[in-house]
Amino acid sequence: MTATRYGAVAWRDTCGDDCAARPALAADTTVDVAILGGGFSGLWTAYWLLRADPALHVLVVEREFCGFGASGRNGGWCSPRYPVFVDDLAARFGADAARATIRAQSAMVDEIGTICAEEGIDAHYTPGGLLSVARTERQWAALHATYASYARLGLADDTCLIDADAARARIAVRGVLGGMVTTTGASLHPLRLVRGLARAVEARGGRIVEGTAVTRVRPGQPALLETTGGTVTARRAVVLAGEAYLSALPGWQRQLLPISSMIVATAPLDAATWAQIGWQGHESLSSGAYTKDYLTRTRDGRILFGSRGAPYLPGSRTPDAALADPALYQPIIAALHDWFPVLRDVPVSHGWGGYLGVPRDGMPTVHFDRTSGIGGAFGYTGRGVATAALAGRALAGLIAEARAFIPDLPMLRAPGPRWEIEPLRWIGVRYIQNAFARIDAADFRDGSVPFDAAFAKALAPI
Ligand SMILES: Cc1cc2nc3c(=O)[nH]c(=O)nc-3n(C[C@H](O)[C@H](O)[C@H](O)COP(=O)(O)OP(=O)(O)OC[C@H]3O[C@@H](n4cnc5c(N)ncnc54)[C@H](O)[C@@H]3O)c2cc1C
Repeated sequence: MTATRYGAVAWRDTCGDDCAARPALAADTTVDVAILGGGFSGLWTAYWLLRADPALHVLVVEREFCGFGASGRNGGWCSPRYPVFVDDLAARFGADAARATIRAQSAMVDEIGTICAEEGIDAHYTPGGLLSVARTERQWAALHATYASYARLGLADDTCLIDADAARARIAVRGVLGGMVTTTGASLHPLRLVRGLARAVEARGGRIVEGTAVTRVRPGQPALLETTGGTVTARRAVVLAGEAYLSALPGWQRQLLPISSMIVATAPLDAATWAQIGWQGHESLSSGAYTKDYLTRTRDGRILFGSRGAPYLPGSRTPDAALADPALYQPIIAALHDWFPVLRDVPVSHGWGGYLGVPRDGMPTVHFDRTSGIGGAFGYTGRGVATAALAGRALAGLIAEARAFIPDLPMLRAPGPRWEIEPLRWIGVRYIQNAFARIDAADFRDGSVPFDAAFAKALAPI
């Protein structure tokens, strides 16, 4: 059987280019807007800036290559689900703000498909919606509660609950008790989208340098980025779009918690195996496990199975090497086989992970402070494909003063509270990671609930 390539991102094999880095910055330069990070946040901000004002000089500074980070590694869910649950949004900001947020996120799912078509980006955009399945009584009760929350706010027009037979008729997952279908939502090839967006930014006159690390951010009039290739002076704005990796920048270590998520990919399945599994609708598939199972059917016929990742590292470090240990992936492969026993003899070709940024209060942030010249978009907690596009457009609107791009949403705010100092941060996060794994294990074992489940949930920001 083919050996699994641990630490290798399957998307890179099919992204349509070799991800070779563009030339690095070689001299000091002055631009209107300098953007740290060539992922979705940075590239969408650049794209919308250039749509708002084609005369702007926009420079994206990327340490590796566009799509190196979470944007080029994720599960490909272009989801209408916002990083913050709708009930929490309503409790914190009111029902109208919750409705406006979910509607804006849903509209962005469609808009990404439209832009891919307009810009000629073949990102394998497939509007198959979502299917969330329940595999325990607790998960089934949770799906009912989720549906009720959306319905209460008048947001369930595209959503319905289905019984076990109807769920199995869509996708033959073992042990399903029922499911929830949402017709809004798409799956896509995230790295193709990043690479295509980068080309679209360049086609509109933006400049991208790769292999260039930002070493320091200097607020002021003008704000500056110090980089390994020279100093970038930004007449109008510096944008911080490094998400989980921002924790390595001086002054930013406690703003976002870098948490990893990991994915395994099967080899492409043959027609007979697909016939047994179904999944003709290409839904983005998940369960209600606390450890967050998310599954995708790719255009080249693989199944991706993603789940929560490796233990949090003290000091908010984000080394790729920590995500290449084969042992980390064995529970995910076991879960894949538990969901689909028919896959036991199918090779798992890839296993990889990436880092996403979790804000202390769970809320994404889009901000621009004209006085310091610093702006940013980050904090999507694993739901960044559609949210980063929304955030990038809002941020471009704030910088370019394009009112039509600026939504009246709670994501527009100054950066939120900071995480605890170490080692408190490490102790708390490791406790929550362990507790969530124990909650799932007990749920599957006998439906019991660990004594500290409520405490662990209350402690977690999402
Ligand atoms: C395994 C995994 C699965 C996920 N699945 C999904 C999913 O299915 N659906 C969904 O909606 N979301 C998902 N997410 C979350 C989503 O991918 C992220 O929220 C989103 O991609 C964040 O985009 P970004 O541009 O803000 O950050 P990133 O994509 O991480 O980009 C940041 C970029 O900044 C660069 N950078 C960092 N520091 C510097 C520096 N000092 N100098 C220069 N450049 C720098 C990095 O190299 C990187 O390219 C997943 C995340 C992971 C890790």
